[in-house]
Amino acid sequence: MKNISERDKKHLWHPLTQHKLHPESLAVTRAKGAVLYDENDKTYIDGIASWYTCVYGHCNDFIIQKAYEQMQRLDHVVFSGFTHEPAVALSEALMDILPDNQEKLFFSDNGSTASDVAIKMALQYHFNRGNKRNVLVAFEEGFHGDTFGAMSVSGLSVYNGPFEDFFLSVERIPVPDGENNREVADKLRSIVEKGTVAGFIYEPLVQGAAAMKMHDAEGLNALIGICKEHDVVTIADEVMTGFGKTGKYFASEYMRHKPDIMSMSKALTAGMLPMAVTSCTQEIYDAFYSDDISKGLFHGHTYSANPVACSVALAGITLLRSEEMQAHIQRVTEAHRRFDEEIKHHPKVASTRQLGVIYALDLRVKMERYGNLRDKLFRFFMGNGVFLRPLGNTIYILAPYVVTDEQLQQIYNVIGRALDEVL
Ligand SMILES: *Cc1c(COP(=O)(O)O)cnc(C)c1O
Repeated sequence: MKNISERDKKHLWHPLTQHKLHPESLAVTRAKGAVLYDENDKTYIDGIASWYTCVYGHCNDFIIQKAYEQMQRLDHVVFSGFTHEPAVALSEALMDILPDNQEKLFFSDNGSTASDVAIKMALQYHFNRGNKRNVLVAFEEGFHGDTFGAMSVSGLSVYNGPFEDFFLSVERIPVPDGENNREVADKLRSIVEKGTVAGFIYEPLVQGAAAMKMHDAEGLNALIGICKEHDVVTIADEVMTGFGKTGKYFASEYMRHKPDIMSMSKALTAGMLPMAVTSCTQEIYDAFYSDDISKGLFHGHTYSANPVACSVALAGITLLRSEEMQAHIQRVTEAHRRFDEEIKHHPKVASTRQLGVIYALDLRVKMERYGNLRDKLFRFFMGNGVFLRPLGNTIYILAPYVVTDEQLQQIYNVIGRALDEVL
């Protein structure tokens, strides 16, 4: 029998992959805590929590136990016309940690669909009130997913060529960086004053796919305020930033103005199962509440609010709120701060940034997003047992909160060595 990586090549088509240039996929056979094991039993510290999902550690025993108990009780049931304890309990637990203005939850299956649901809510909110608006505002370099609505509002991808003719109508503004706050606010005001803007979608404070680009909370707060003045629905895409990564449960807590709609996925289910939630205010919900059936939100997925996924999410929130997990978040945040003191003056480091457990450094070299030097760095990290995924000239760390001090030190050491040996 051939090994897994060889068998993979026959039938599998991987995401975000040009198979002719990158034919190899690493077979991972198991994972625990912050460590991945490949089919030759080589270990890798998961420095990006498998795309920011497994924040409480891979194969967490408490989450496994809760999933197992739920699997024995109720696997799945239609969520139109039916409900169940895990969904209700999850809604109550989420309300405890979401900003106070959030009142209603809508389920879908991943971050992209959570964005699409948010966009549909914003468009139909105006439509239902007899005031059709068809423009969305989004940040340059934002990322909201790969389905059509989400792709339309994403500002990043140079790979969207075949689809651009079919995109929603979107106006883009730069992120507020503290220096340009007034300009960006003026630009947004001039766009929303036309009265055609339905919603503004943004990743609050940290743009994950733009390589952990960070922006200014005061500046963003002002933008949300302008939207509120013009009845523009604000949508915080917290798919990446949610569940403790920024040092608060949600990045939206850093702003005084709260979003009308929030989307979450990734760490919502702690890497165990795919699920997403789009939450909204009572006011948004009320625009759909009617004797007229067609004013409802006619969107649904077969696996909406899957009971096992809900139980897993509920277990994740229990962990997040525990003293133990909060102490881990604090510990990792402080470790990154100390590492930053060491590394930021390195001649090959152009700049660094941090919010909570999210840490990024920009290299003083020009690199393509998926270019050769980037590949070389990636191979160096993996060769040394650390899974980091540089983006352009940015190296970032977003390890599981439970990563040990020793594992963190290994991540820092391999980054330090890469600066000296690879660049
Ligand atoms: C990952 C991500 C998405 C898309 O989520 P998928 O589950 O990959 O569809 C959307 N928004 C943000 C901010 C993300 O980081």
